[in-house]
Amino acid sequence: MRICIIGGGASGLVAAISAKSNNNEVFILERNNKCGKKLLLTGNGRCNFWNENQDLSFYHSHNLEILENIFKLEKDKVLPFFKRIGIISKVKDGYYYPFSNQATAILNALLTEINKLNIKIYCDELVTNIKKEKNFIITTNHKTYFADKVILATGSKAYPKTGSDGNGYNIAKSLGHTLIPVLPALTSLIGCDKFYKNWEGIRTECEVSLYENNQFIKKEKGEIQLTNYGVSGICIFNLSSQVALGLQEKKKEEIKINFVPWCRENIRDWLDKQEKLLKDYNLQEMLEGFLNYKLINLIFKLEKLPKDIKWQNIKKEKIANYLTNFTIEIKDTKSFDNAQVCQGGIPLDEVDANTLESKIVKDLYFTGEILDVDGCCGGYNLGFAWMSGMLAGESGKKNA
Ligand SMILES: Cc1cc2nc3c(=O)[nH]c(=O)nc-3n(C[C@H](O)[C@H](O)[C@H](O)COP(=O)(O)OP(=O)(O)OC[C@H]3O[C@@H](n4cnc5c(N)ncnc54)[C@H](O)[C@@H]3O)c2cc1C
Repeated sequence: MRICIIGGGASGLVAAISAKSNNNEVFILERNNKCGKKLLLTGNGRCNFWNENQDLSFYHSHNLEILENIFKLEKDKVLPFFKRIGIISKVKDGYYYPFSNQATAILNALLTEINKLNIKIYCDELVTNIKKEKNFIITTNHKTYFADKVILATGSKAYPKTGSDGNGYNIAKSLGHTLIPVLPALTSLIGCDKFYKNWEGIRTECEVSLYENNQFIKKEKGEIQLTNYGVSGICIFNLSSQVALGLQEKKKEEIKINFVPWCRENIRDWLDKQEKLLKDYNLQEMLEGFLNYKLINLIFKLEKLPKDIKWQNIKKEKIANYLTNFTIEIKDTKSFDNAQVCQGGIPLDEVDANTLESKIVKDLYFTGEILDVDGCCGGYNLGFAWMSGMLAGESGKKNA
């Protein structure tokens, strides 16, 4: 029995290890000159590889039932797997990293295990076509390989410079699969206004709320980065897949920023108290106590306020609105080049929930981001790569 894994990324490497037994030959075809390019970029090079808080609500898919089943089967196997291959973890607020804080630790541990199991990796092999006759005929840019089972682990089209550029979708389609439209996810948002260069470089803790067609959708809390095109940062990333979908459906997408999340009371009441406390202060002096100076300058510019205007002489309602409800309309997300993951992909309906084997082509399996599953920031996307890699690998191994 020969099992071919196409793609030596996160899910492909785990699938290869899980598929190996004494009775089979497992090999990986990877288009790059080495495996795991994207894995090395994860978590800013630190690899946030898992999250303690594994709940379906951190994932998106059109078939949550199948996703739930994959969870049930594989969730508890992930940490023991990494322990078994020598990874000592560090946990911060439920986010798992290798103790060394280096993504290379995870990649090297996987490659060491692959080497010990005698799994062959053929690099610089770009798979261009797969045909199923009695078994699989796999054509690459160099030669032809044969296999009894194939695990397609080619990733999505996010960050294509890492090798996952969406070509796997075409391979799956050529074998009869369909595709749920693929859009960028976990990415920054581009706004419609002209003033962004005024707030460029600010990083601040805040609350951001997403509104679609003036309806509240979702709120996130954390640090955002204000950029020369709009907004970025983890809490923006977590809203971005919804925004991409909304924009595609021609909905009006707005982000409302609360720059004073620490203020527990009604902002107008709080401003009144400040007015009493800081009797001699002008507006700028009062704002300087809690707001980034670039934001203060921006509010002055947008409201065309004189520099020395007294606190008492301004419309407090307007200032309150800038502080708690700073609204920007979004015209686009950053492209696939900058997105950490994609939403959409091969529908989970087209795979067996217990094995990840294709319902269309016998002995073909799928893992990782090529499937219609994406997660929030926090280790969830690698989490799905490991879980699906293990499930497809273990299933492929059966009757080997
Ligand atoms: C900058 C960045 C930071 C991230 N940080 C995190 C994080 O901290 N935590 C987290 O959980 N997730 C993170 N992610 C997401 C995570 O990396 C992916 O979800 C995960 O790598 C997907 O695994 P995969 O196996 O499906 O695909 P990939 O890891 O993309 O692997 C696919 C492999 O297939 C190869 N390939 C593609 N087509 C072919 C072909 N035709 N023939 C041969 N080989 C082919 C590619 O070269 C690639 O090596 C991050 C992503 C990015 C871009």
